[in-house]
Amino acid sequence: MKISWWQWWPFQKWRIIGKVESADEIPDALPRNSAVLVGSAATPKWIAFDCPCRTGHRIMLNTDRIRLPHWRVDLSEPSRLTLSPSVDFRGDRRRCHYFVRAGKIVWAGDRDR
Ligand SMILES: [Zn+2]
Repeated sequence: MKISWWQWWPFQKWRIIGKVESADEIPDALPRNSAVLVGSAATPKWIAFDCPCRTGHRIMLNTDRIRLPHWRVDLSEPSRLTLSPSVDFRGDRRRCHYFVRAGKIVWAGDRDR
């Protein structure tokens, strides 16, 4: 996957910047506030992005309706990412719980900082 130079400009909304065929093709470095789809554009299997907490962990969500749990990505507006339901990451040291709506992160009240 080739990332256009302007995608590295930091002040952009959460958005989908591209698609890869398989998970091992996801770039190691992703621009700020960007997400990548894995699979076909019409029916992606995964969406991957770096967590908005910015501690450097990557989030990978299943978007394949056959498996549970799965997330719905609004593909009609790739430039303003909307995911549902919320993302609730629980790691060893932290919890990251937020909504992604129209390109913006809305943190839930129960996150750890
Ligand atoms: Zn996080």
